[in-house]
Amino acid sequence: MTFETLGLHPQILQALTDAGYTIPTPVQQEAVPAAIAGRDLMVSSQTGSGKTAAFMLPALNKFANEPVEARPGKTPNQNAQAARSRGERPRFMPAQPRMLVLTPTRELALQVTTATDKYGIHMRRVKAASILGGMPYPKQMQLLARNPEILVATPGRLIDHMESGKIDFSKLEILVLDEADRMLDMGFVEDIELIVSRTPATRQTLLFSATLDGMVGNIARRITTDPLRIQIAGASARHENIEQRVHFVDDLLHKNRLLDHLLRDTAIEQAVVFTATKRDADSIADRLNIAGFAAAALHGDMHQGARNRTLDALRRGQLRVLVATDVAARGIDVPGITHVFNYDLPKFAEDYVHRIGRTGRAGRNGMAISLVNHAEGVHVKRIERLTKQTIPVDVIEGYEPKKTTSAARPRPGWKPGDGRGKPGKPGQRTFAKPGAPRKEGGHRGQRDGRSTESRRG
Ligand code: AMP
Repeated sequence: MTFETLGLHPQILQALTDAGYTIPTPVQQEAVPAAIAGRDLMVSSQTGSGKTAAFMLPALNKFANEPVEARPGKTPNQNAQAARSRGERPRFMPAQPRMLVLTPTRELALQVTTATDKYGIHMRRVKAASILGGMPYPKQMQLLARNPEILVATPGRLIDHMESGKIDFSKLEILVLDEADRMLDMGFVEDIELIVSRTPATRQTLLFSATLDGMVGNIARRITTDPLRIQIAGASARHENIEQRVHFVDDLLHKNRLLDHLLRDTAIEQAVVFTATKRDADSIADRLNIAGFAAAALHGDMHQGARNRTLDALRRGQLRVLVATDVAARGIDVPGITHVFNYDLPKFAEDYVHRIGRTGRAGRNGMAISLVNHAEGVHVKRIERLTKQTIPVDVIEGYEPKKTTSAARPRPGWKPGDGRGKPGKPGQRTFAKPGAPRKEGGHRGQRDGRSTESRRG
């Protein structure tokens, strides 16, 4: 399925191409056509599933397809100017948004607004504004005076503006509750009910939540009309089929040596190595090629044609190692990718989830290995908090880090003296030397003990 088949307006399709999206995520595939058809939705999907686009694309599509004259008239600013030009005192006009997205946190609201700007970049006259606690009131008044079509708000501050008559929801067409379960956990239930009660019954309601059980389900049923229920599999979103490891490294040299060593694991069918910069993607791909790996880079500076060719080569199995920036963190669906390496950790913990999701596709298992400087232990913790999983630390004989940091913990189940996962003590796990048959069984994704390199001949 492509974004074209979802029936989106060309201006939106162009924005998605600009953003590097190639295929809709599962939640988008299900939610976008239903929302375009006007259905209410109750969607259970995790953060990072692409849910923002799942609700924003249909809304933007609606706005993009309207004839210009059907769009609401003047902004409060324009009305005020017109009144002044008639020598009258401007009358206060509340903002009348057409779409409201409620989010539990400011950060999420800002993310949604940024995503909206990105998806709507080629559309004229669609404005999105965030109304957040902690933002100065005068700044928010300025935003509201532009009468944005789309408001993205946290409930508390929004109610302040509603109560002081700055916002009027009588023209609201689309209401989105994003991360509804978190909003309820944070005690926003009454606020939500109040806000919903001020919106027209004719609105379209789209509710997104990690779970639809319990109180969220009750609220969802109350505020939606004949909703389509969409459930995106939780287990695969949590990547339970992907084994994760962290290796601590002392410096770049150590990191490069370890990567080369790890890539010689005969269990690897295909791997993606994620780097923070385009330059590193290029230089590591070059280096790996010289070392005899069938490797190529993929990043945003490459022309679309070159990117497509690289991905085709990966799909056809001609490439064994793709060295990529986060442009490849999403949307690549190649079942042969048995391993993901984080040469650099991603800037945002959520991107880690996307990156490692490139392996373990199509019901298979996968392995995700992060090479982490000692100072980056805090980023690992952030990822662990997000995924609610502990990532075991691995150490390989001959590649032990010199430093022992508090972040380098023994892996769960580690017992004193078993030599596994403890910094400074060599791990029992060994990797095959290039060309040597693999000694250990049990590594996921292993096929026949021959290296992919030699298989390719
Ligand atoms: P969300 O779950 O909406 O927070 O999205 C998570 C991330 O996935 C964001 O960084 C989006 O930019 C990205 N994303 C959403 N949909 C797609 C897609 N179809 N292809 C690639 N990336 C996507």
